[in-house]
Amino acid sequence: MDFQIDAASDTLDSAHAPLGHAPLGRLTPARQTVIRILKATDRALTHHEIEQQARADGIQFDRVTLYRALEWLVTKELAHKVAAEDRIWRFSAARGANRDQAYFHCTSCGSVYCLDLAPGYAPVAVPEGFKAKRVEIMVRGECAKADCKR
Ligand SMILES: [Zn+2]
Repeated sequence: MDFQIDAASDTLDSAHAPLGHAPLGRLTPARQTVIRILKATDRALTHHEIEQQARADGIQFDRVTLYRALEWLVTKELAHKVAAEDRIWRFSAARGANRDQAYFHCTSCGSVYCLDLAPGYAPVAVPEGFKAKRVEIMVRGECAKADCKR
């Protein structure tokens, strides 16, 4: 199956969604495709990697649609957005209700893996009166992938 998801249909769907519609009812085909791709991997993916995977699945995105779908998923906390040292944004599917997220950035091959973080895990104490809302941890090192270039 080969079909095109364009920015116009994504915009129309958002603009004409009935008021009070359940948030998940606004999962447009583009958003559904992106979240499916993110859930199918334990890594955080770049725009380019998501585009490539969609193409491999027979789906063509235009870039604007992909960016909008990702931003929407992040806003709804269905996906997390993280930048590693290379300053490239990567996206991962949110895991359950946990807003905290840990990553492993392989400094050899550049892959960013999502790690599980126990809810309420607080690696640092925040000053009195401060309120932590979300924890994001980046672990750096070398992964165990067979084709990791070391
Ligand atoms: Zn690696």
